[in-house]
Amino acid sequence: MLAWSAGYTRRAVASPPEALAHAPLEWDTPLYRMAVAQFDQAVPVAGIPEDIAERLRFPERSLIVSVPVRLDDGQRVVFPGYRVQHSSILGPTKGGVRYDSEVSLGECAALAMWMTWKCALLRLPYGGAKGGVRCDARSLSPTELERLTRRFTSELLPVIGPQEDIPAPDMATNEQTMAWMMDTYSMQRGYAVPEIVTGKPISIGGSVFRHEATGAGVVMVIASACTRLGWPVEEQRCVVQGFGNVGSIAAAELHELGATIVAVSDVSGGIHSEDGLDVPALQAYVREHGSLEGCDAGRRISNEELLELDCDILVLAAREDQITGENAPRLRARMVVEGANGPTSLEADAILDTRGIPVLPDILTNAGGVTVSYFEWVQDLGRLFWTRDEIRAKLAEKLSDAFDRVWDLAAERETSLRTAALVGGIREVSNALEARGIFP
Ligand code: GLU
Repeated sequence: MLAWSAGYTRRAVASPPEALAHAPLEWDTPLYRMAVAQFDQAVPVAGIPEDIAERLRFPERSLIVSVPVRLDDGQRVVFPGYRVQHSSILGPTKGGVRYDSEVSLGECAALAMWMTWKCALLRLPYGGAKGGVRCDARSLSPTELERLTRRFTSELLPVIGPQEDIPAPDMATNEQTMAWMMDTYSMQRGYAVPEIVTGKPISIGGSVFRHEATGAGVVMVIASACTRLGWPVEEQRCVVQGFGNVGSIAAAELHELGATIVAVSDVSGGIHSEDGLDVPALQAYVREHGSLEGCDAGRRISNEELLELDCDILVLAAREDQITGENAPRLRARMVVEGANGPTSLEADAILDTRGIPVLPDILTNAGGVTVSYFEWVQDLGRLFWTRDEIRAKLAEKLSDAFDRVWDLAAERETSLRTAALVGGIREVSNALEARGIFP
């Protein structure tokens, strides 16, 4: 259990009541502990002062709201909503908003901490945040989702802003969600504020490349790793878990580079074909039917079977907690790629490390999304827009710089790529925190 820092309890004057010193912190959940445990593994390698490390184990600010929504049939329901801001040391906090039945304060806190390291590793002037509403988005109609989004945005007004905290899409949210958030915020200000969110439609100041950015970035990182490992991309047999915004674009980009996509999956289960799947045809099927349900492009398999298929590259683009101590020994991939945030548990990381299977970590691999979000925000603030090719080139440059730093540090310190990526991010934040000091 996380406890208030030893230093805090030691000082007689500041000593909190017993109950406070020992009460579990509200965000202290298994996922948050995983984020802190990863951080603790990286701290000795990062070589940062312990008092700085202690401050970074806690999110700066957490907001819990309840979001009442009138359903289409007139019924009123209330959903819990959250926004956690982990660190504002480097700039405004940044991170997605997800609509999912597992959203909790602890999940948002873990994801916010990962956003801090991700932004810092990419040298973006942001800290990390994450938020969401606990709901089953697929059971809500577009009009219900609009009312939920507008009310949730109103509840967040005291803590968000273009210089404070900038939301973006995440699981089950998209350009339309961001348009409603931008409109709700702008209505309160009395003028258009496109820079309040990123991942908006292009018509209201969105970036021409934001939609594809996360998936395209995943493939840029895979290509860099393949170059270092001497694996020709076009010879790789790939499995992609998750066929949403990240997985479907990553699969399409890999397919375009000549790699073979032997299996993909979504909530409806997996599809497998040793001869390779026609990814654009699958994307067209999903556009028409909403999911891969009923698609007969290959053999139908379960999500568990998909993860254990014999392949070169396994891309995890679904959600957290997919590769665990239980299934990691059975994985037959030669490389694991984290398109989602937190898909590999600590136990799985250790097993894959012993088995010599490299894991391209989330905070590097899926950073294409927030990097293009940064470009979108800068463009909105300056009211000056770049072309698709310019944005793609700037993204490639940012990701390749971060990849080289991570790969070289991992080789130099003989650590995992995850620890190296965390060290890269943690050092940026620690240097800034040391320079700024603790207020007052
Ligand atoms: N939700 C995405 C992530 O986890 C993007 C966040 C953003 O663009 O701010 O990185």
